Amino acid sequence: MRNKEFPKNAKCPLCRGRIAPGTTTFTADLDKGVIIVHDVPAQICGQCGEEWFTNEVSHQLDELASDMRAKGSEVEIISFNMANAESVKV
Ligand SMILES: [Zn+2]
Repeated sequence: MRNKEFPKNAKCPLCRGRIAPGTTTFTADLDKGVIIVHDVPAQICGQCGEEWFTNEVSHQLDELASDMRAKGSEVEIISFNMANAESVKV
């Protein structure tokens, strides 16, 4: 996972492949559990498959991970959109 904002039609810095917006699944190992977030918006290289998240998205993923750490759950499987909808409600 890397953080980077790309302009339109940017090329992958690793392999010069074409980068296109898409969604991916983010997983993180926490001290006591695992968090799995589906439907995370990302910029994905069509050639090497490297994925980049914008600063905003990676910040939200950080928040989700620390929420989960605080709750002490062992496994959390959520959708990025749902997580955002929840955080708006709260
Ligand atoms: Zn690439």
